Order: sequence, then C-alpha cells, then structure tokens
Amino acid sequence: MTAVPANRPMLSGDRVYRIHWVLGTDRLRAVCHCSAEREFEDPVELWDWLLDHPCERSR
Ligand SMILES: [Zn+2]
Repeated sequence: MTAVPANRPMLSGDRVYRIHWVLGTDRLRAVCHCSAEREFEDPVELWDWLLDHPCERSR
C-alpha cells in the first residue's frame, strides 16, 4: 500500500472537513471542522453526516 500523503495543504476557511481511512478496517473516520468525529463504513453516509452536521451548536 502507498502511504497517504501527509502534507497536502488543506482548504482554509470555516468549512474544512477531514476524512481518515482507519487502518486495518473498512472504515472511514470523518472529522468535521468543529472537531466532531464519527466513523462510517459507507462514504455516502459519511458525507450526509458531515454536510448535515449541526456545527453551530458546538461553537
Ligand atoms: Zn460540525
């Protein structure tokens, strides 16, 4: 397996999402810009959760 590049520049602004592949599993961990995290097996559910995340409450 090729290593995931670690130094890619992130988009700046107040809508930055990160998605990490959880090593050794089929899961993806989504990290919202408000620092909420959740793991998913389905990328579609992941994006639904991220894009619908009620961030305003945690800020
Ligand atoms: Zn959020």
